[in-house]
Amino acid sequence: MAQTKDGFTWTPSAGRSTGLPSISVVSPPVHLAAPKLLVYDVIVIGSGYAGLTAARDLAVQGKQTLLVEARDRFGGRSWNASINGSNYEMGGTWIHWHMPHIYREVSLYGLHNDWVVTQNPGSKEDYCTLTSGDDVRNMSHDMEDEITGKAWELFCNIDGDHLRQTWKYPFATGQSPELMAKWDQISCLDRLNEIRHLLTKEETAVLECFLQQMGGNSLDRMGLLDALRWWTLGSHEPNGLNNIALHTRLGSGNSRLHRRMFEHTLSTGNLSYTFNTPVCSIEESTDGIVSVKARGGQTFRAKAVISTIPLNVLSSITFSPPLPAVKLNAALEGSVNKCNKVHVDLKGPDFLSWSGMCNAGKGLISLFGDGLTRANDSHLVGFGPDPERPNGIKLDNIDAIKEAALHLLPKEKRDSVDIERIVSHDWNNDEFSKGTWCYLPPKVTTKHLEALQQPHGRVFFASGDWSDGWRGWIDGAVQSGMQVAHQVIQLQRAS
Ligand SMILES: Cc1cc2nc3c(=O)[nH]c(=O)nc-3n(C[C@H](O)[C@H](O)[C@H](O)COP(=O)(O)OP(=O)(O)OC[C@H]3O[C@@H](n4cnc5c(N)ncnc54)[C@H](O)[C@@H]3O)c2cc1C
Repeated sequence: MAQTKDGFTWTPSAGRSTGLPSISVVSPPVHLAAPKLLVYDVIVIGSGYAGLTAARDLAVQGKQTLLVEARDRFGGRSWNASINGSNYEMGGTWIHWHMPHIYREVSLYGLHNDWVVTQNPGSKEDYCTLTSGDDVRNMSHDMEDEITGKAWELFCNIDGDHLRQTWKYPFATGQSPELMAKWDQISCLDRLNEIRHLLTKEETAVLECFLQQMGGNSLDRMGLLDALRWWTLGSHEPNGLNNIALHTRLGSGNSRLHRRMFEHTLSTGNLSYTFNTPVCSIEESTDGIVSVKARGGQTFRAKAVISTIPLNVLSSITFSPPLPAVKLNAALEGSVNKCNKVHVDLKGPDFLSWSGMCNAGKGLISLFGDGLTRANDSHLVGFGPDPERPNGIKLDNIDAIKEAALHLLPKEKRDSVDIERIVSHDWNNDEFSKGTWCYLPPKVTTKHLEALQQPHGRVFFASGDWSDGWRGWIDGAVQSGMQVAHQVIQLQRAS
């Protein structure tokens, strides 16, 4: 299997090595469906979920489409490596049938029986370990759900009615605009301080872990509005979000779904592509043609462009005419989510059902079982905060990752487990993502979201970072790619 340049793995015998085997690598990297074509109907920049969806919808409608991707692979912030027969999801992982846009893709491409449930019961260590300061306590998963659900419900019940009327429809826009604007001024820390007196020390620790895992930063930098939106997407229920968004993933991996989308698009005969091609500028001329320039000196031309370049990367692209200030400022404020995600395999199957949370943690705040490897080891997935925060770690420091993982385990187990493998990708130091999933700081949603969704001349913008609905998630990326491709098709049909 081909190796992507992204990601790294560590084992005790081989040490650390960069690059991982994945079916997401595209080889050869360039394909021209119509070699003599000088002006494409549409250029799609980026081959994550938004870009793959948009390119497919355009090509199926007969549009000569050029996909331009900076990396050697498709998938963007969602892709899986395959190591010794086991899949490691490096970015976006969990999807669900309550996420309508991605579920359509899953069923369209025949993967509707390909589900794997995270956190299976029945292994020897079947409980949750909560570490809060020096206190370490093991509790049942039922108790873990009860504490998390209670604290999360209190946190989100800002209107006394669980947002059931004020934010009734999670995918709709324009609901209760005055309340939204008010809540958008507030950080997650402000809200926690409002309800702190209603929580026990343990509940506070659990809620802090839960929130940090959502937003990948300190609570003062995380806007309340995104948290409230996730509550509504979780059916306004205490455990709704976890039951939908941290529950099921594709057994054969997100890259399998991407490959099926990509091959379907290719089969139309309307898709050209160029990988390893980072775009540096996008220029619209007075004749209405948009030129996309790559760092390598190539220029591609089209009647319209769909950019899926992530929010935190957008300001590195030169636009002519320049982007309006409101869009540029949103890009400069960006998403605050700088979390780390790591896979840690422990020898033997004992930790399949285990989970751990830690406040403040030594680099990881959560770690939980997500299946067994082919070698029958426990495969754990962990999340940690922004590496620049006092409790963050840098991913080039393997000893720090090991220490962070062991710190989450029950004290008496720390010396008796063997770490067999670590796998991760450093999304924060990746120039084509500069962070992980989108989580907006206070005030940005009401100030900038609408502007982010607007086209700039014949340049259109699709991304999971500014979608409605499951913004910051795979579903949002698919929704946005679908909507923007439709917009471009309609516009070109009209003209
Ligand atoms: C660690 C992590 C865990 C996550 N967990 C989940 C989860 O469990 N469930 C879930 O639903 N979501 C999750 N997400 C979020 C989800 O992965 C993203 O919201 C979604 O993949 C974004 O898709 P996108 O197409 O909008 O952007 P991207 O996937 O980032 O696609 C943008 C593409 O543009 C390319 N690009 C960037 N700059 C340039 C340039 N200059 N020139 C050319 N190409 C460029 C990039 O290489 C990339 O391929 C997670 C994300 C991360 C990082």
